[in-house]
Amino acid sequence: MSRSAHPAGPRHADVLPEGHYSAPPADLNTLDPKVWAETVDRGDDGVVRVGGVDVKALAEEFGTPAYFLDETDFRARARAWRTAFGQDADVFYAGKAFLSRAVVRWLHEEGLNLDVCSGGELATALSAGMPADRIAFHGNNKSTEEIHRAIEAGVGRIVLDSFQEIVRVAHIAQELGKRQRVQIRVTVGVEAHTHEFIATAHEDQKFGIPLAGGQAAEAVRRALKLDGLELIGIHSHIGSQIFDTSGFEVAAHRVVGLLKDIRDEHGVELPEIDLGGGLGIAYTSADDPREPHEIAKALTEIVTRECEGARLRTPRISVEPGRAIVGPTAFTLYEVGTIKPLDGLRTYVSVDGGMSDNIRTALYDAEYSVALVSRTSDAEPMLARVVGKHCESGDIVVKDAFLPADLAPGDLIAVPATGAYCRSMASNYNHALRPPVVAVRDGEARVIVRRETEEDLLRLDVG
Ligand SMILES: *Cc1c(COP(=O)(O)O)cnc(C)c1O
Repeated sequence: MSRSAHPAGPRHADVLPEGHYSAPPADLNTLDPKVWAETVDRGDDGVVRVGGVDVKALAEEFGTPAYFLDETDFRARARAWRTAFGQDADVFYAGKAFLSRAVVRWLHEEGLNLDVCSGGELATALSAGMPADRIAFHGNNKSTEEIHRAIEAGVGRIVLDSFQEIVRVAHIAQELGKRQRVQIRVTVGVEAHTHEFIATAHEDQKFGIPLAGGQAAEAVRRALKLDGLELIGIHSHIGSQIFDTSGFEVAAHRVVGLLKDIRDEHGVELPEIDLGGGLGIAYTSADDPREPHEIAKALTEIVTRECEGARLRTPRISVEPGRAIVGPTAFTLYEVGTIKPLDGLRTYVSVDGGMSDNIRTALYDAEYSVALVSRTSDAEPMLARVVGKHCESGDIVVKDAFLPADLAPGDLIAVPATGAYCRSMASNYNHALRPPVVAVRDGEARVIVRRETEEDLLRLDVG
């Protein structure tokens, strides 16, 4: 059974991964700026800081486990994406990566748009004042209630994901006396993960309508006929944690092919193309993500070239980075509880959280880094596995990492690059209380999502 979202290979076999973990880094006290948020550094006293506040003070005030989010870094990344794509394109932050009202306000202030994919995400976005016309609504099985609310609120676009939904959205829009702007999400037969992509004729997944077999063309035909819909473009999202734009090149080629067919058949040139998200970040020092301006340049060139080839006006481009904006901006702070050396294997380091605050390692074999942050150490490196406190042997946070051999209960360790898909996927397994998200900026820390309490748990349990 493969639980891996990545291609099989030595990095994912049950041996020491190739490359970065086979040898300890030269100095365990050094923080690689690639994997840590912008304002993270180590103070003269050896304690790691974020936004000028040290982690011991943060642990004291907010407890552990907790996510600490570097607001300066978040805003800088959002702005970098916005600036890179300029005025002729739109950047939609993918809210599923991590969404809270503070985040919505930052995005609004930095000029980004927002993707939501549920009623809950829509409610969060609207309650924090994101203008509805800057919201895109996604999902492969939106309920009629969700569709109703989205149209009523006036969302800028709904991304249609199935033949049923084309009719459903058109019908609800008409009932409300509206014409809803929509895109059709197509699957182009490109499966992209990390450094590789596979281009196929078919795609075996639940999202989107296949280009293959003329299905997407048929969806367009139907959407164009319905009064309740204004078809503004085609949407394609090819994967996650992608480092290379070659997968987007194949996707854009195929989407533009569809735009050309639409022009030839219906005499309309759809004005927009959405290339989705999925841009990779550095979880470990081995990862080398590209800068937003490089990605913007590459994607714009690809779409322009393809459209010139097809003699189409270049459509307005939108992209949907989630992880690439929020992922690198946060780390999870844990306190070490127990330490078990297993001779000849590795040392198990148990922390006060685990798969309830970071499911990605168990779910996707995701790789993370970890560092001792409450002090420096000159001790020898030891091969460690950082595990949680849950009743599950797969409860692993960091599969293989080096930590100093003098690590002791009470030390604070931090896992960087946990801003995306950690709090948003957090669970109450074992009735764990989901950790808070604390935003830190210019010497000040403030809770943006508070820690759950036992009262919160018991309130749902009505006896
Ligand atoms: C998940 C998703 C994204 C964001 O993916 P990231 O890997 O976080 O950039 C963007 N668009 C769609 C449609 C998605 O499903």
